[in-house]
Amino acid sequence: MKQVQDYIRTIVDFPHEGILFRDVTTLFADPRGFRIAIDQLLHPYAGMQFDKVVGLEARGFILGGAIAHQLSVGFVPIRKKGKLPGAVISEEYQLEYGEAIVEIHDDAIKPGEKILVVDDLLATGGTAEAGIKLVERLGGEIIGCAFIVDLPDLGGRKKLEALGMEVHALCA
Ligand code: 5GP
Repeated sequence: MKQVQDYIRTIVDFPHEGILFRDVTTLFADPRGFRIAIDQLLHPYAGMQFDKVVGLEARGFILGGAIAHQLSVGFVPIRKKGKLPGAVISEEYQLEYGEAIVEIHDDAIKPGEKILVVDDLLATGGTAEAGIKLVERLGGEIIGCAFIVDLPDLGGRKKLEALGMEVHALCA
């Protein structure tokens, strides 16, 4: 029986030479693959209460929307700078070359709300850390951070665990 990782393909030299890009579109495109991925992402949180799912642009929107629907809670996007129409708060973080900025609507989360943060892949953890900071600045209580893929050699899991986060990933 195929496992989640069997639906993910690796694209060589994308987006730059020397990068092995984990392409989860093949997982999302397969009805069984997508279903087992969502089920397994939710597995550790069975019986727990959440108020909202927060998804990181862009593949975190696909996963986060499906998970929020399954949990019957709302979905909140964290987007790259300049994409959200309302008033936002921002966090800057380091990329391999340069910086990036992510934003959340400043009224998207109420203090004390229980949040699940979702993205497709954890690498250095910079993107997730910036997202976590945004949620915490609005007073959200992050119950877990869930990813399809964790690339442990890049240090993201350690970075998030050092922030006190519970990290759940389906494959390496
Ligand atoms: P980090 O900030 O942890 O270094 O990088 C993670 C972010 O970059 C995530 O939002 C993820 O979608 C994207 N990302 C980086 N490398 C890959 C990859 O190989 N495959 C996919 N699907 N996303 C990646």
